[in-house]
Amino acid sequence: MIENISTRSVKSRVLSLFAVAGLALLFFLGNPSQSNTADNFQWVAINVNANPRQQADAHLLRFPSGRYFLIDAGRSGEFIVPALKQRGVKRLEAVIISHVHKDHYGGLLAIQQSGIEIGTVYRNLPSREGCGREVPWGCDLQDIDSIFSTIFRLGIPVKTIQTGETLHQEAKHSLDVLAAFAQKSGEYEAPSVNDMSAVLRLSAGNRRILFTGDLDSPGGDEILRRGIDIRADVLKAPHHGCEGLVSEAFLEMVAPRWIVVPAPTNLWNQPRCRRVKDFATRHRIPLLVNAIDGDITFEVTQDEIAVFTQFGPILSGLTR
Ligand SMILES: [Zn+2]
Repeated sequence: MIENISTRSVKSRVLSLFAVAGLALLFFLGNPSQSNTADNFQWVAINVNANPRQQADAHLLRFPSGRYFLIDAGRSGEFIVPALKQRGVKRLEAVIISHVHKDHYGGLLAIQQSGIEIGTVYRNLPSREGCGREVPWGCDLQDIDSIFSTIFRLGIPVKTIQTGETLHQEAKHSLDVLAAFAQKSGEYEAPSVNDMSAVLRLSAGNRRILFTGDLDSPGGDEILRRGIDIRADVLKAPHHGCEGLVSEAFLEMVAPRWIVVPAPTNLWNQPRCRRVKDFATRHRIPLLVNAIDGDITFEVTQDEIAVFTQFGPILSGLTR
């Protein structure tokens, strides 16, 4: 409860700071569903956390060409399929599964079965031993094998995410894989499935959004050690904003202006989500949380960023 109040107070401070300029921009933008201007990039952190007891991740990207990509597919079809239908999504160029935990891939087949076309599926498979160690936390190789082989049988290419590859590029926009650690001997071996999370950077002009799956501190530290450029305007918080997410040093290096947390109410109110709240409060960074804000939409237009929750605009535009 205390945490929610402090989150709100950060928001209201920022809201008053930006109120005048924000309202001016909103006058033009209206709301996200009406602002289909051709050169906008849009990201919706879909609220797949509406069940207070179950966390999940699903992020819909719409490029200026109208092409859609999905990063993670929710835990089941329950929230993700209606959200995609409501937005008129008929085809996803690719679905990128950040790592193979059920709360990130569970909705994949339901999306395909709902009639939405899928171009390619990307994923990063753990070793048999690596997955075996995590059976109690939900690593299920049988389920993973069955889902990805069904996808493959349906004629959808299934590819392994590779560090350094560009998954999409158009005009001033690109989606790049900064890291996707494997569990192979002879190279850096991710100690957990979370640490295999694909870390993706979306660039829209000079603006950047960092997607981190459930990256934990060992994987985050390896990224820092390699000197990978993770600076971003917006951070999709790793591991639902809760322990053992990446270190303080990682958050400092990203230096985000907004943090988006895909967490449900029960998880978000636990003490193990304290660290990201403290970080945001200390740096006066607005936190946007599925549990509080529902669907969260970012619109990047002409280098400006506008933010909308399901319940209305939060603040808009402008470099801080
Ligand atoms: Zn997760």
